[in-house]
Amino acid sequence: MKITKLAFVLILAFNTLTGYSQDYYLHCGSILDVQTGKQMKSSTIIISKNKVVKIAEGYTVKQNTNDVEVDLKNKFVLPGLIDMHVHIESEQNPKSYASKFTNNEADIAFEAARFAEITLMAGFTTVRDLGGTGVNISLRNAINKGIAKGPRIYTAGRAIASTGGHADPTNGSNHQLMGDPGPHEGVVNSPEDGVKAVRERYKEGADVIKITATGGVLSVAKSGKNPQFSIEEIKAITTTAKDYNMLTAAHAHGDEGMQRAILGGIKTIEHGTFMSEETMELMKKYDAYLVPTITAGKEVALKAEVEGFYPEIVVPKAREVGPQLQSTFAKAYKKGVKIAFGTDAGVYDHGKNGKEFGYMVEAGMPALAAIQSATITNAMLLGVADEIGQIKPNFFADIIAVDENPLLKVKTLENVTFVMKNGVIYKSH
Ligand SMILES: [Zn+2]
Repeated sequence: MKITKLAFVLILAFNTLTGYSQDYYLHCGSILDVQTGKQMKSSTIIISKNKVVKIAEGYTVKQNTNDVEVDLKNKFVLPGLIDMHVHIESEQNPKSYASKFTNNEADIAFEAARFAEITLMAGFTTVRDLGGTGVNISLRNAINKGIAKGPRIYTAGRAIASTGGHADPTNGSNHQLMGDPGPHEGVVNSPEDGVKAVRERYKEGADVIKITATGGVLSVAKSGKNPQFSIEEIKAITTTAKDYNMLTAAHAHGDEGMQRAILGGIKTIEHGTFMSEETMELMKKYDAYLVPTITAGKEVALKAEVEGFYPEIVVPKAREVGPQLQSTFAKAYKKGVKIAFGTDAGVYDHGKNGKEFGYMVEAGMPALAAIQSATITNAMLLGVADEIGQIKPNFFADIIAVDENPLLKVKTLENVTFVMKNGVIYKSH
């Protein structure tokens, strides 16, 4: 007995010294091939370090004593989910509007780390973060270094707005505090400013670019729809972003601002609330993607009825915009507009991202298509289609499991019971 224990310790020490880690053998009841919709029954995913090595038929027995077999025989296994629109730094509550005057960066960072962990535990192993204070960049780095737990993050750093626009960080401040923010803070008023703002984001370490092409619901401003950029400004931003290989996203509720964003070369349109049929055609012509964020719309409309949750100026916008998102999504999908799964988590509680699937299916999208939009499509848009979004040899081991067949009961994706990211198990029950 003593010798066995000693041998075990020696193996552990050897493994630590050589950097060798044990392989995982995931015994899966059913694996969903998200590309074809086919299910592979009773099979084993073999994982070495952070990559999938092999998917074998039947339940393969582990090769070495250190290797670990994981029993997922009663589960449906699929690739880790990707949300293209979250705000990982924050979560909306009645105090949010005051907190920018009271919170230090460290306060934001501690909260952000918690939101990141909640997101990962909900089965979202990758997110695109569309705007915060810059803490998002540090959080991404901390997660990559293994200091914090969370999804792979592709972040915009700070969003880019025009003066008084949806993402102007000084909106709602008293006049003395408003000052005159510029490209460094993410506020632009000319094509030249736009070029500089993109380069500032690049310098700070952002991965993607986000602009607020129209007014927004939650900002302390009158209009939720008006266009807030000229086409020339948008073109300057997208052409500069291309130089740095940065994917571009535009928040847009109103139709005019949306059209300018598409014509200006933006790749993903966020929300798309009041999208006309003409704009839907434009989306198809320019190969732009709609990120529906239906969950945010539903939650914002609910919160608008809670006395004092939002400032008065926000309430009518929340009532108008919220319920519209799902019906616009239904029309756009039917018309053949391409869809990229995204939820705007942070506008509502982190970890509820999976609700979006149910809303998409309710609006007429088959469950498989909704799952594809959250895996293959988003991986492709992020430029990592050969690394994440599928369970395949040589892909990163980002793997989740649910208790029921998501193609038959899509709501099971709201209750993810197993999460592996980059070959590490974070949740298993
Ligand atoms: Zn957002």
